[in-house]
Amino acid sequence: MSRLAVLGGAESGVGAAVLAKVKGFDVFLSDNGKIKQEYADMLRKWDIPFEEGGHTEEKVLSADEVVKSPGIPDTAPLVRKLRDRGTGIISEIEFASRYDSAKKICITGSNGKTTTTSLIYYLLQNAGLNVGLGGNIGKSYALQVATEKHDYYVLEISSFQLDGCYEFRPDIAIITNITPDHLDRYDYKLENYVRSKFRITRNLRPEDCFIFDSDDDITIAHLDKIVLKAKALPFSQKEEVRQGAFLRGGDEIVLRYGEDESSIYLKELALGGKHNIYNSMAAALAAKAAGIDNSIIRDSLRTFKAIEHRLEPVLSVGGVLYINDSKATNVDAAWYALDAQTRPVVWIVGGTDKGNDYSCLEGLVRDKVKAIVCLGVDNRKIHEAFEPIVGKDRMVDTLSAEEAVKESARLATEGDVVLLSPCCASFDLFSCYEERGEKFKDAVRRL
Ligand code: ADP
Repeated sequence: MSRLAVLGGAESGVGAAVLAKVKGFDVFLSDNGKIKQEYADMLRKWDIPFEEGGHTEEKVLSADEVVKSPGIPDTAPLVRKLRDRGTGIISEIEFASRYDSAKKICITGSNGKTTTTSLIYYLLQNAGLNVGLGGNIGKSYALQVATEKHDYYVLEISSFQLDGCYEFRPDIAIITNITPDHLDRYDYKLENYVRSKFRITRNLRPEDCFIFDSDDDITIAHLDKIVLKAKALPFSQKEEVRQGAFLRGGDEIVLRYGEDESSIYLKELALGGKHNIYNSMAAALAAKAAGIDNSIIRDSLRTFKAIEHRLEPVLSVGGVLYINDSKATNVDAAWYALDAQTRPVVWIVGGTDKGNDYSCLEGLVRDKVKAIVCLGVDNRKIHEAFEPIVGKDRMVDTLSAEEAVKESARLATEGDVVLLSPCCASFDLFSCYEERGEKFKDAVRRL
C-alpha cells in the first residue's frame, strides 16, 4: 500500500487526506499547529491517523509522496528534508486532479480571483450545469472529488498551490492579472512569482483555452517567453482584439469567440468599477469557451451580487455610504477601489505593510480623498505618502474598527463615501481580513 503523508490539517489538507483514504492509501496527516475542531472531527470520522502541535519526522519522511498545504513555505525544515530525500511534494490540487475527469476552469492571478471564480460558478449554475466550486473558496476540491460527482469544477488557485502542480491541466485557465504580491515567498523576485502563476498554462493543449489580461504588461511580457499551445483569449479595455473581449465606444463589452460576436453594455453589469469590467470579461469568456448561451451570460452578468468584503456596500447613514473592501490587501486592489468612487472619499487605510509603494495612488488620492483614517499599529508610511496631499489635519490614527468608523463619521458629510480599502494585511489588529470587515460592518450598523 502506497504511503501518503499530508502536511497541514486545514481545508485542503484534510480534503486530500479524505481522498487518499477513499483511494486506498495508507495516509497520515501531520500539523505543526493546532487543528481546528471541525477538521479533527472529520479526520476521526474517516478514521485517518493524525497528529498536531508538531511533526513526527520518521512518519513523514517514510512517506512515498507528500501533499503539502499551500501555507507551508518551502523553507520549512521538514520540507527541506523531504526535498533532500527526493520525496515528491505536491499540492492538494495536483493530487485531486489525478482522480477527476471533470472539465476544469481554473483561475489564478494577483487580484480578482475570488470575484471571477464566483462569477463563473454563478454563470455555469445558471446554465444548468452540474458544477463544483473549490480551490481557495469553500469546500476543498479534493474533498469534492472524494465525495461528490461533478461534470465541471471552477477552481480558484493560488500561486502556492500551483507551485505544487506538475501534471495538473485545466481545460480553461485564467490569469486575471499579475502585480507584485507575496514576494516574501519568492525570494523577492517578481520573475519567480510570475513563473509560478504561469504554471497554470504549462500542460494546456490546443483544444484548451487561456484567458488573460492583455492590458497587463507583466502578463504580456511573460507570454512572449513561453510556448502557449492553447487558444489565446485576451481581454482588454484598451484595444480591440480579434478573439477575446474588449471595450467598444467606452460603454460596451464585445465578446468574440470563434465566429460568434456578442455584446453587453457596461451599465448593465451588476458589479461596478473598472476592475470588475476585467473580471466580467474574463468570466464571460470562460462561459463562452464552456459553450454557454449569450443570453445566459448576459443575464448572469446583470444579476450577480457583490461578494462580501469586496467593494461591498454596507449601509447609508446620514447620506454617507459605507463600503467594505477589507479584502483589498494590496495597493493595486485599493487603486481600483478608489478609482471606482464617484463621490468624495473618507478613506480608511492601514494594517500590516507588505513593502507597499504608495506612489501610484497619489493622483487618485489628490482627486478623490478628502480625509484619511489610518487603521493600523504603524502608520508612518501612510502619513509620509499622503500628508502632503490631504494635509496633516485631515489624517487621524485609530486602533480599532469602531474608532475608525467613528472618526470617519465625524470627517464625512452628506454625499460622501467612507471606504475601508486598507492596502495592507490585517494581522496587526485582526485575525484576518474577514474579521476586519465584519468589525467594520458592525461598527457602521451601530452608528
Ligand atoms: P483575490 O481572490 O485575487 O484576492 P478578490 O476578488 O477577492 O481577489 O478581490 C480582492 C481585492 O481586489 C478586492 O478589494 C477587490 O475589490 C479588488 N479587485 C478585484 N478584482 C480586481 C482586479 N481585476 N484588479 C484589481 N483589483 C481587483
